[in-house]
Amino acid sequence: MSSQSSSIGRRGLLLSVGASGALFALGWGASKVESAPVIRPPGGQDNNFLSRCIRCDRCRSICPTNVISIGGLADGVLNLRTPVMNYRYGSCDFCDKCIEVCPTGALTAYSGETTPVGKARLTDICIALRTRACTKCKEACPYDAISLAEGKVPVIDNDKCNGCGVCENICPANVLQAYTGRNQRGIEILSLEALKAQEQS
Ligand code: SF4
Ligand code: SF4
Ligand code: SF4
Repeated sequence: MSSQSSSIGRRGLLLSVGASGALFALGWGASKVESAPVIRPPGGQDNNFLSRCIRCDRCRSICPTNVISIGGLADGVLNLRTPVMNYRYGSCDFCDKCIEVCPTGALTAYSGETTPVGKARLTDICIALRTRACTKCKEACPYDAISLAEGKVPVIDNDKCNGCGVCENICPANVLQAYTGRNQRGIEILSLEALKAQEQS
């Protein structure tokens, strides 16, 4: 990374830290200041991401599938204005365009085999768990990471899944649950951080 890039990266971090301090001073809760386990675009899985990203919005603007959204307060103040994956709007085809336009190296060369962006997990509203009548995620997965167990319940192959989000994007379970007020899908992508926390609990 060039010295100019690292200097603007530091500026981005300082701005975030400054904003966090100001919000603390105004009485905001610590939970809003902590960074939530969001999913970054490919190449943003490095621990140094937050200190490098200058919130320039170039990655979101160029993404052809609209899977990149901008972090809001619900994601924690440190993630404000940073790029987060939102599979309700799209999925990732690993075109690398976001990596190419990133001016600071916050998004770097990506290998789904060594560092997936996230991993898919079934939720309790998966239609197949109750009716065995939906195979949409299995049919749509471009990486053959979903098979059907006996009874036609989807099973995710952790080694093959790279968090592309095609399955979450296509899952229709939220429509069938709309009357309950839930907006969850039957399969969701979790960040690697969230998965680790889940495994340790
Ligand atoms: S790799 Fe392509 S599709 Fe995936 S987030 Fe980046 S720009 Fe979007
Ligand atoms: S292009 Fe890079 S620096 Fe700009 S918002 Fe995206 S990740 Fe951050
Ligand atoms: S995120 Fe879903 S569609 Fe993508 S590889 Fe994993 S299981 Fe397949």
